[in-house]
Amino acid sequence: MENVEKIIVIGSGPAGWTAAIYAARANLQPLVFAGRPRSFPSLVLPGGQLMLTTEVENYPGFPHGITGPKLMAGLEQQAVRFGTRIVTDDGLHPDVSNPDDGHSAKYHDCQSVDFSSRPLKVVGEDGTTRLAHAVVVATGATANWLGLENEQRLARTGGGVSACAVCDGAMPVFRGKELAVVGGGDSAVEEATYLTKFAGKVYLIHRRDQLRASKIMVQRAATNSKIEILWNKIVLDVLGDAAISGLRLEDTKTKEESVLPVGGLFLAIGHTPATGFLNGRLELDAKGYVRLRDPSRTTTSVEGVFAAGDVADGVYRQAVTAAGMGCKAALDAERWLAEQGIL
Ligand code: NAP
Repeated sequence: MENVEKIIVIGSGPAGWTAAIYAARANLQPLVFAGRPRSFPSLVLPGGQLMLTTEVENYPGFPHGITGPKLMAGLEQQAVRFGTRIVTDDGLHPDVSNPDDGHSAKYHDCQSVDFSSRPLKVVGEDGTTRLAHAVVVATGATANWLGLENEQRLARTGGGVSACAVCDGAMPVFRGKELAVVGGGDSAVEEATYLTKFAGKVYLIHRRDQLRASKIMVQRAATNSKIEILWNKIVLDVLGDAAISGLRLEDTKTKEESVLPVGGLFLAIGHTPATGFLNGRLELDAKGYVRLRDPSRTTTSVEGVFAAGDVADGVYRQAVTAAGMGCKAALDAERWLAEQGIL
C-alpha cells in the first residue's frame, strides 16, 4: 500500500498547530497543509487570523502581550520541534519557518479532500494526493470585510482598522477616541458595548433602519449613553494615511455623503468558515460551520475526521479556544487510531 500518513492537519492557526504539537508528541508524525500566503484578505489564512493582529493581550501566559505573527511562529516551531512535517514547494520540510514573521511563502494549500473511502485522501494545490488514516480540519473562519482598498491597507499595517474588537479594542491607541463599529448583528452590538469601556464614544453604523441583533442586545445598545447608532449608512471609504482619521459615509435613503471623524474602525459583519475545499464531504451546520457529532468532542460526520477551531466554532472564535480544540482533536484522533489498531 502507498505511504499512508497517520494524521494530516489542514490549517495552521492556533487550532492546527496545537493539533500538530499534540500529535507530534504522541509520535504520530503529523503532516500539515499550512496554506499559502496570498494577498490580504485570503480565504485560508496561513497562521490564522492572528496574523492580522498586532498585539495579542488575551492569550494566557504572555503577561505583556505578544504580536500575533510571533505567537504563531512560536506555535509552529513548537510543532516542528517534535517532528511535524509541512508540505512545501520543496517537498516535506521539517522547518522552513521564519522566526521573525512566521510563515513561509512556500507552504502549500489543500485543494480538495475525498473522505468517501479509506484511507482518507487530501489533495494539495499541486494536485498530489496524500493518504491519511485521520485528518484534522482546522482551516478557520475568515472575518468578512467591506472590501475597500483603504480598509485593507490600514488593517494590514495596524492603522486602526480591525475585524476583532475583543482582540484589538483595548490597545492604548484606541483609548478615549471616538470609534466606529460596522454591522447590525449581535457581534456588532457586543463589540460596540465592549469598546465603550475604553472609547470616548462609539458609533454603530448599520446599513438598515433595524438591527438584526437579539432584543436584549438591542436594548443594551439603546441604553448605553456612549453608543450612537447611525442608521441607513454605508461606508464608502476609510480616510487616513498611516492611521485612520475618519469614514466617508453614504445615507442609503437620501444618497447624501458625509465624513465622520473616528480614531478606529471595527468590522462586525459576520464570518465565513473556510470549508469550500471540503466540497460537501463533511456535514456543515446552517451557517456553514463544520457540524460536530458531539459538541463536547471534535468528531465530525466522517469517522477519523476531526474539526477544531473557528471552522467548527461560530460562537467563541478566540485563539485560546481554538488552541484548546486543536488539543482535543489530536487526542480524539490518537484515541480513534488506537481503536482502529493503527497505532
Ligand atoms: P450576523 O448576525 O450575520 O450579522 C451581520 C451583520 O452585518 C448584519 O447586521 C448585516 O446587515 C451586516 N452586514 C453584513 N454584510 C455587510 C456589509 N457588506 N456591509 C454592511 N453591513 C453588513 O453576524 P454576527 O453578528 O457576527 O453574529 C453571528 C452569529 O453569532 C449570530 O447567530 C449571533 O446571534 C451570534 N452571536 C451571539 C452573541 C451573543 O449572544 N452574545 C454575540 C455575537 C454573535 P443586515 O442586518 O442588513 O443583514
